[in-house]
Amino acid sequence: MSDIFSTSTSFADLGLRSEVLQGIEDQGFEHPTMIQAKLIPLAIEGKDIIGQSKTGTGKTASFSLPALHLIDTDAPFACLCLVPTRELAIQVARECRELGRHTGLKVLPVYGGQSINTQAEKLKQKPQIIIGTPGRVMDMNQRGLLPYNKIKLAILDEVDRMLDIGFRDDIRKILGAMKQQHQTVFVSATISPEIERLAKKYMHNPVDLSTTEASSLTVSQVDQSCVGVQEWDKRRLLHHVLGIEKPDLALVFCRMKVTVDKVAKSLQNKKIDAVTLHANMNQGARNRVMDKLRKRDVRVVVASDLAARGIDVDDITHVINYDVPEDPEVYVHRIGRTARKGRDGKAIMFVTPDQSELLLNIEKLTNVEIVESRFDEFKPGPEPE
Ligand code: ADP
Repeated sequence: MSDIFSTSTSFADLGLRSEVLQGIEDQGFEHPTMIQAKLIPLAIEGKDIIGQSKTGTGKTASFSLPALHLIDTDAPFACLCLVPTRELAIQVARECRELGRHTGLKVLPVYGGQSINTQAEKLKQKPQIIIGTPGRVMDMNQRGLLPYNKIKLAILDEVDRMLDIGFRDDIRKILGAMKQQHQTVFVSATISPEIERLAKKYMHNPVDLSTTEASSLTVSQVDQSCVGVQEWDKRRLLHHVLGIEKPDLALVFCRMKVTVDKVAKSLQNKKIDAVTLHANMNQGARNRVMDKLRKRDVRVVVASDLAARGIDVDDITHVINYDVPEDPEVYVHRIGRTARKGRDGKAIMFVTPDQSELLLNIEKLTNVEIVESRFDEFKPGPEPE
């Protein structure tokens, strides 16, 4: 635990105003985490910051608290925080709202899949803090409902994802349109040198709280292992592993949405309480799954990498990598859904014989040897015709 929390520091030491401190107390936070203790005072000073810290170490509060401290109620649209998924927009806005409940600040999530009109009405009430996904933010900006020229603090959560190919253009458009002086705070659990270089183009003399130390990427409480398996045996193996491990709450990650559906169906056929989460589902269905997860009203969630980042649900006991991710950083984010806030968790990865190089790349990035788990009672089947 001591490598997560800064136990010799209190939140008051960080210079936060009393309304914000009250919100922190309501949440029951006793001490800041390491990243919070480092990042918050610098952010309050007005510095641009790149912050890196392991999954589950409180990055959301590390940027939300200084935002709540710095922004006044008479400064509409003063803070824009961009996140890669709708689920994350909802979650970050919720935490920011809770922490800011005594500040009188309005926090609004703005994301695709929810009625434009509903969000437009709320934007007309001029919230001070917007947590949004890039597409919907740009849409609202074009409608004249979300001006960029009022932004004083721009935050990128999961910055490496926000600046990779998929979002890079959108971010360039949004950040590039902010001609006024503003502060930037970018955070993630993984930041490659290339992303760091790109990020710095949008920053002014940033303080770099990122670390290149590979050993600090994964949380030590995650017990990581892999199992060799043929592609055609994976579904049976999953069923077997769930039977042996008996997870209270497991996230099963697959690379493709079709696999997510097939895997969930095969579990359901075997009477296992499994639900799916991927981007082809409508937002209502996605929100219902997130609610179930939060209420522990489900045992197994089969998900695409949509759920790999940021999702903060306590007590996910197991992460099963049904498919090895192509990008080793995705592995770090996936397994970071377990072992949060100093708890324990298990990560098991299925590896087919042609994937040893991918496994090696993951081991190199994380600097952890992923040991082989043995499920001796599992009998591999013959290759199908
Ligand atoms: P990260 O973004 O680093 O993966 P989160 O910001 O989602 O982590 O935080 C993980 C959990 O820890 C959240 O449930 C959050 O409310 C909680 N948390 C954050 N800061 C503290 C703190 N100082 N003390 C106790 N709990 C905290």
